[in-house]
Amino acid sequence: MHPRIYEAMSRPIVGHLDPYFFQVNEEIRAGLNACFGTKNDFTMVISGTGSAGMECAVANFVTPGSTVAIFANGYFSDRITEMARRHGGAVQRLEKPWGRTFTDAEAREFLHAVRPQVAAYVHAETSTGAHQPGGAICRAAHEVGALVIADCVTSLGGMPVRVDETGIDIAYSGTQKALGAPPGLAPITCSPRAVEFLRQRKSPPASWYLDLKLLLDYYESAHRYHHTAPISMFYALREALAIIEEEGLESRWERHRRNHERFVAGLAEMGIRMHVAEGERLWTLNTPVVPEGVDDAAVRRHLMEVRGIEIAGGFGPLAGKVFRIGTMGYGSTGENVDLLLEALREALSAAAGGRA
Ligand SMILES: *Cc1c(COP(=O)(O)O)cnc(C)c1O
Repeated sequence: MHPRIYEAMSRPIVGHLDPYFFQVNEEIRAGLNACFGTKNDFTMVISGTGSAGMECAVANFVTPGSTVAIFANGYFSDRITEMARRHGGAVQRLEKPWGRTFTDAEAREFLHAVRPQVAAYVHAETSTGAHQPGGAICRAAHEVGALVIADCVTSLGGMPVRVDETGIDIAYSGTQKALGAPPGLAPITCSPRAVEFLRQRKSPPASWYLDLKLLLDYYESAHRYHHTAPISMFYALREALAIIEEEGLESRWERHRRNHERFVAGLAEMGIRMHVAEGERLWTLNTPVVPEGVDDAAVRRHLMEVRGIEIAGGFGPLAGKVFRIGTMGYGSTGENVDLLLEALREALSAAAGGRA
């Protein structure tokens, strides 16, 4: 994290009904709307991690018995599936192998066949490194009267999200990915259509804690106590958003794109391919293919023990097949990319050492 964020977290804590807290919250809402690319009035922060944002979206917009269409191509779309089922949704999935994305035609055909009340996709799938554009999904969903939920946890602050232009009804994220803040809060924004749905909804959601109407009463005009907001995390998020504004959102995206491409080019020089096709890759999370015959755990162990660098491995269908390497937030610099490439070269030759 940026040092300024640690400093922000150490500031004096006010009460959860203190006017100063609501002022901080207003600044956060403005900063989030800029990152989300939306003019939505309904933007707030859930006290919980990215998964709380996900469950909040599901709990409020998936009513028992409603049909939910899920674009399933990775771990986090499976998590949305699980939550949608727990909240009583009748889930229909369009499945793709992990790392692949859905074409406009596939999205349209699926949504017109299923005619769901809610459609959900993962914009930036952290388990695979794939980027799913949402324009066609949102257009087709709206043609059949469905609301669209988009998981933007690993894209917000590092890649264009463009909620309004894309037509996303409910977008959520988490603070610890490309926003560069600590884990603990989940930004969420709802379109006027989504807000209208909430207004019309007859029965309250099964989750009291994640009930957006109750949360609105707390954060907005009435300021009625709902839960005790984690004040320090709000300070941290406000600072992270101020840093993003100073850098400029577009320059920040450009920095992420540049460093991702620098990393991919360096990997190519080492003969390492990417799991996701060019043009469908995230700028924030990279999934290089583990070279033939290499034990990925040995490489990761070497990086951790010898160089103090943590990268992640693949899991599920990608276990042992890819590395998962973040180039996001404060850590996305050319210097870090070069350092990592050099350390990776060393770790790979050490892992191959036994055989070579
Ligand atoms: C990290 C992540 C989540 C869950 O966030 P937590 O903060 O771990 O609860 C959800 N979706 C995606 C795509 C993520 O990368």
